[in-house]
Amino acid sequence: MEHKTLLQIAKDFESPVYVYDSDKIGAQYKRLTSAFSKVKKLKLNYAVKALSNISILKLFKTLGSGLDTVSIQEVKLGLMAGFSPEQIIFTPNGVSLEEIEMAAKLGVQINIDNLSILEQFGTRHPKTPVCIRINPHVMAGGNTNISVGHIDSKFGISIHQIPHLLRIIDNTKMNINGIHMHTGSDILDIDVFLYASEILFDTALHFKDLEFIDFGSGFKVPYKEGDIETNIEELGQKLSERFNAFCKKYGRELTLAFEPGKFLVSEAGVFLTKVNVVKQTTSTVFAQVDSGFNHLIRPMLYGSQHEIINISNSKGRERFYSVVGYICETDTFASNIRINEISEGDILCFKNAGAYCFTMASNYNSRFRPAEVLWHNKKAHLIRKRETFEDIINNQIEIDLGA
Ligand SMILES: *Cc1c(COP(=O)(O)O)cnc(C)c1O
Repeated sequence: MEHKTLLQIAKDFESPVYVYDSDKIGAQYKRLTSAFSKVKKLKLNYAVKALSNISILKLFKTLGSGLDTVSIQEVKLGLMAGFSPEQIIFTPNGVSLEEIEMAAKLGVQINIDNLSILEQFGTRHPKTPVCIRINPHVMAGGNTNISVGHIDSKFGISIHQIPHLLRIIDNTKMNINGIHMHTGSDILDIDVFLYASEILFDTALHFKDLEFIDFGSGFKVPYKEGDIETNIEELGQKLSERFNAFCKKYGRELTLAFEPGKFLVSEAGVFLTKVNVVKQTTSTVFAQVDSGFNHLIRPMLYGSQHEIINISNSKGRERFYSVVGYICETDTFASNIRINEISEGDILCFKNAGAYCFTMASNYNSRFRPAEVLWHNKKAHLIRKRETFEDIINNQIEIDLGA
């Protein structure tokens, strides 16, 4: 998307606003499918939690994608977007048996990640095919908050519990049709991923009726200049080869599944904010924008570095700024970064704002959550209205406190 286009969107839809480029989403989808073109049956299930707007889900449907969901609400969103239940996998963690049964009733593929629920579900619904989430105990992932495969992680059924797992399956006579792992976000090292995959292959041999193996996600995308990204092409080539060899050994053509979120939508999104105040202090120059961690929490939550550019003055002299928000609490987006000279009223563009940005937004400070716009077929489409004061007050109940 050109700066000119983005400036026009900021003008037409006002700031702050999230903008997503459908071409970029399509290109990332294509890149991933091309990397695995040697695998006969490939299934990509887009991880809804990264960006869950219904128009984005519909876009994924047109691309041929399935969905990976982690709550019953995401399942319902997916069905509402037109996906059939078979195109949806439900991969929650720590949810109640009731929620899993609700999803099963809707006909989506269930993925269970603990022995307690597996035993209860298998006893009550032995005929419903279930996928199991394995924890291969491989350390992968950038930030400790998003590394989910390690030994202390709450995710998945430990590979050391396979004997117990097999006893439950034997006792309940339930049908396991898939195995799954998701070792965490930000996979840098392809060898680590392949190592974890070998553990999954070994585990798979315990099950006779598999239809698919799901390798989760965690592909890294570059956030700032010089960042490394997962080499999808190399991973595709190496894993495809291993997968095809495994299918031969297993004696059946299995489906290779992935469930990427960030890889598919992160770079397709930008977040546009307006500079309210340029504030010179004794130590730095702050550019204060009309947003805060209520709208984009990743820098404060994960220490993520979103590149920020001044699209109102992209040729201006570069100066050092700290970009902060308007929340009454420290909400730093970036400290001491070079940006083209900023004037009050300028539009700053935050890159990589497609994944885990809007979906983590809140009403903190009683602010409205921003609008979302999809740039599709060279046109800007509003896909979510900015909230209004009504949304803030809607579910609140004023009680009579007496005199
Ligand atoms: C969050 C999540 C994903 C997506 O991870 P990305 O790093 O965004 O690709 C995939 N699978 C499961 C089970 C998840 O919880």
